[in-house]
Amino acid sequence: MKRFQDKVVIITGGGSGLGAASALQMAKEGATLVLVDINEEGLEESKQAIMDVAPEATVELVEANVAKEADVKNYIEHTVDKFGKIDAFFNNAGIEGKQNLTEDYGVDEFEKVININLNGVFYGMKHVLAIMKKQGYGSIVNTASVGGIRGVGNQSGYSASKHGVVGLTRNSGVEYGEFGVSIKAIAPGAIMTPMVEGSLKQVGGENWEEAGKEFVSANPMKRFGKPEEVGYLVAFLLSDQANFINGAVIPIDGGQSYKY
Ligand code: NAD
Repeated sequence: MKRFQDKVVIITGGGSGLGAASALQMAKEGATLVLVDINEEGLEESKQAIMDVAPEATVELVEANVAKEADVKNYIEHTVDKFGKIDAFFNNAGIEGKQNLTEDYGVDEFEKVININLNGVFYGMKHVLAIMKKQGYGSIVNTASVGGIRGVGNQSGYSASKHGVVGLTRNSGVEYGEFGVSIKAIAPGAIMTPMVEGSLKQVGGENWEEAGKEFVSANPMKRFGKPEEVGYLVAFLLSDQANFINGAVIPIDGGQSYKY
């Protein structure tokens, strides 16, 4: 069964990690993909990885900074001009920011993380929802985090932004359900991507792999999640099978968020 045959899917942060893994999964299931990222090289690598396993896939690349509304409008207009519709939107690009106690958390850093993780998600929803409402169908998955549903520490900007993403998801979920549009968020725990590697390097420096082992020893499943595991979840949530899941925030964290 190809759940994404004839479906047009936009993925932000498609040049790495969770966005790239989700793109690969949906490409295998027939999706026409628009991958958006600020990192052109990452986009090319994602496209190549898709072409290696699904050479018949259609993959459009758009370089954009999700923190700039004009860039967001552009990748959405480009998609509609080229493919005529948007079936699904994985609103996923984000950064972690520097880890620090709140009193030491830089104001500039706070603003930067909010601009990308929260404003970027809002701009995406604002412009995609206008189109999905007209269409009378569509699904959105926003990437929140365990840090968006629990207190993790040392992450003022990240925590505020991801709690904000949960708020946007619930708010718009109740607004757009009647138009046939469903909106959900995922709350990943630690999934081994370049972002988590960077985070471990902040804590453990050269010994980041040791720091990683110590970190996951607190997880009920004693391991990091895999990007492809998130890809399976996102593909399900963006498919027609998950249409009645709306406003929900789904953890994918080995049980971590129930343990804090
Ligand atoms: P990643 O660093 O591997 O990928 C993030 C991608 O987003 C990169 O390709 C990057 O270039 C892109 N990006 C960053 N800023 C951008 C901007 N301003 N405009 C456009 N693209 C931009 O990280 P990841 O782990 O795949 O993270 C994806 C999402 O998942 C993020 O929102 C992150 O907060 C969230 N998340 C990740 C984890 C995890 O453990 N990996 C856990 C919880 C939440």
